[in-house]
Parts: sequence; C-alpha cells; structure tokens
Amino acid sequence: MGKSTEYMERTEKVILHTYNRFPVVLKRGEGVYLYDEEGKKYLDFGAGIAVFALGYHYKDYDQALKDQIDLLIHTSNLYYNEPLMEAGEKLISHSGLDKVFFTNSGTEAIEGAIKAARKYAWNKDGRTDHEIIAMEHSFHGRSMGALSVTGNSHYQEPFKPLIGGIRFAKFNDLESVKALVNEKTCAIILEPVQGEGGIYPAEPEFLKGIKEICEEKDILLILDEIQCGMGRTGSMFAWQEYGVEPDIMTTAKALGLGVPVGAFVLGKKAAGKSLVPGDHGTTYGGNPFACRAVSKVFDLFDENHIVEHVRNLTPYLEEKLDALAAECGCVKERRGKGFMQGLVISGRPVGEVAAKALEQGLIVLTAGSDVLRLVPPLVIEKEQIDEMAEKLKAVLAD
Ligand SMILES: *Cc1c(COP(=O)(O)O)cnc(C)c1O
Repeated sequence: MGKSTEYMERTEKVILHTYNRFPVVLKRGEGVYLYDEEGKKYLDFGAGIAVFALGYHYKDYDQALKDQIDLLIHTSNLYYNEPLMEAGEKLISHSGLDKVFFTNSGTEAIEGAIKAARKYAWNKDGRTDHEIIAMEHSFHGRSMGALSVTGNSHYQEPFKPLIGGIRFAKFNDLESVKALVNEKTCAIILEPVQGEGGIYPAEPEFLKGIKEICEEKDILLILDEIQCGMGRTGSMFAWQEYGVEPDIMTTAKALGLGVPVGAFVLGKKAAGKSLVPGDHGTTYGGNPFACRAVSKVFDLFDENHIVEHVRNLTPYLEEKLDALAAECGCVKERRGKGFMQGLVISGRPVGEVAAKALEQGLIVLTAGSDVLRLVPPLVIEKEQIDEMAEKLKAVLAD
C-alpha cells in the first residue's frame, strides 16, 4: 500500500474535504475495468457516476480528442467553430428538439434551463414572482439555482436563503403537483428516472399527466436527463420511451464521456421566446474540444448501436439482479430502468456494502439512504453481468 497511502494522505492535505472517498487510488482504465496504483483490477459498475458510458479507451474516441487538441482547444463563444456546429446538429437530430446551449456541467445546464423558463414566462406576463414546481428526492446539482430545485433538505438547509418561488411536489403523485399549480407557475422540473434520490422511475401516467398540465397552462416542462439520458435507460433520452417531449431538456454526464460538458436543449416553443443575446453566456461552454467529444460520442453511439445493446441486454441484467434480490435477505427490492438499476438494502448500511464490493474488485455506487446503484458502462456484455452478480452475491450473502 506504499504509493496509494502516500497519495491519499497528500491529497487530503490540499483538497477540500467535501467527499468521503473510497480508500483507493485509481490509475488507469481499460474497457469496463479500472486499475488502481497497485495494479488491482476492478469491474466498473459506476462508470464515474454514469459518465463513461462506452468504457475506457473506446475505439476512435481518444483519437478524435487528440486530433482536436492539435487543431484548437478553445475559442470562446465570440466566434464560430466546426465541432460546435456538429455537436449541436447531432444533439438536435437525436432529441428532435430545436436549439442547444452547451455548458460545462450538469448543474450549469440546470441553471440555464431555469433562466430560460423564467424568461419565457416573463416575456409573456412581465411578472417577477414566477414559481417552479420541483420534486421531493430530486437531484439537480449544487449551485444555488440547481440546489434550490433539489428536493433534499439536508443539502439545502445550511445554504439558505435559496432562490425563491420553488415548491416541491411528491414524485409519482400527480395530485400533489396539481395542488401547487397556480398563475405564477412557469415550469415543472423533474428527472424521468430519479438518480441520486434513489433510482425511482417515473410512472408513465405521472409524466403524461404533468405534460397535460403544462400544455393546458402554458407551463414549461423541464426534464433533467443528465443521469438517465444518453442511452442509459434503453432509449437515447428516457422521455422518448415515455412519449413525453419536454420543452427544455438538460443533459450532461455521458454526453462528453468524461470531457466536462453539459447542455440545455430547448423545444421550439421555449427556443423562440426565451433567451436572446445578452441573457446568458459562458466562457468555456461549447468549446471545440468539448464539442468534438460530444460529436464523437453521438457517432459512436450510432455506429455501434449502443442504445439497442442496452435494450437487448436489460432483461438479462434485471433477471440477474432479481435473482440476487430473491436470494439475499438484505435486498428488499430492485427497481430501475435499463442500465440504471437500484437494489434497496435493508438491515445494513448501504455504504458498507459498496465498500465491501470494492474489496471484491467491484465498483458500485449508492443512492438515497439505502440504495445500491448500478450504472455500468453501456457496453458491458453478459459475462460482465455474471461477474458482477457473482461478486455482489458474495458481498450480500456475507
Ligand atoms: C449529476 C446530476 C446533476 C448535476 O450534474 P453535475 O455535472 O454534477 O453538475 C444534475 N441532475 C442530475 C439528474 C444528475 O444526476
């Protein structure tokens, strides 16, 4: 444990302690495996929190980035560049929406979506007291705006006052949403599958009901696809499977495969009557390096039928996890969609389960207070699902 111990100690001396990190120093990745400083191998069912969707060093991805480095990394948004155009075109063709704004992170995509929704409503009625309905147990990020719509009082409390006019409804409870709608409501924001909150998929009727409310009252529907999007649940974006099109969609995480990039994407209605020059900006957002990554990611998804692969393999993954749930007393329930799955753990701390799995050479995440979260690279095969199930069984039966 020579080097690792040293690196952990030196890191803690200088990096602000906002994370309780697992005691492992990762050095390199290959496919769906990670290796630490000592050369120990880990099967990666976390993918850097649902980011590295194609695994490490997926064919042609690295080369595209290297080529772009040789051309141009950054320009600012004062000028045009080819990767920006291409990434934008691909995000539009895959979503069917109308206009893209690239950001540096998911949180910033949420900020932009909130601003676009407020501007749209302000254009309409000139009010400055608009409200947004968000969901309990949601997660949208840590900046003041994104935190304000994150339904977790533990995250919010020390940082109050947050932005005003946010009301929280119960996820999958349409009546609780209806009860909050009034003439000031400008947007409803939710994740089609809640991630950090504990892997809760929206019920189709719930999402459809919200869409109806939005259409009837001219409220903008913001769907946060930052975690559940980019093929993870078996369609390019989770809402496509529900048949519920958002007015504004946010995306990030797997969008650039580890190159920091996010986006908010507006449908026709919101694009036409919201943000205009002077309303919003970013220095880095949409730079040629990040956009080359985005553009390549869409190409690789298409050429290699990644979304289809997820759809095809989901029954196998679910079957294996259901078997685990049946065999292991501490697993209360499995829930999720596609390659975004959660096992509800009872009777022992879920963090301890994740730590034990790591010892076994399996990386898994947690979500909420008691959910073991599995968000593997989308390129896993049956053998790796078997390997995961075997390792997890050893941990859970312990
Ligand atoms: C991760 C996440 C965010 C925040 O994205 P960052 O890139 O960490 O800023 C927002 N919404 C959802 C659903 C997420 O999973």
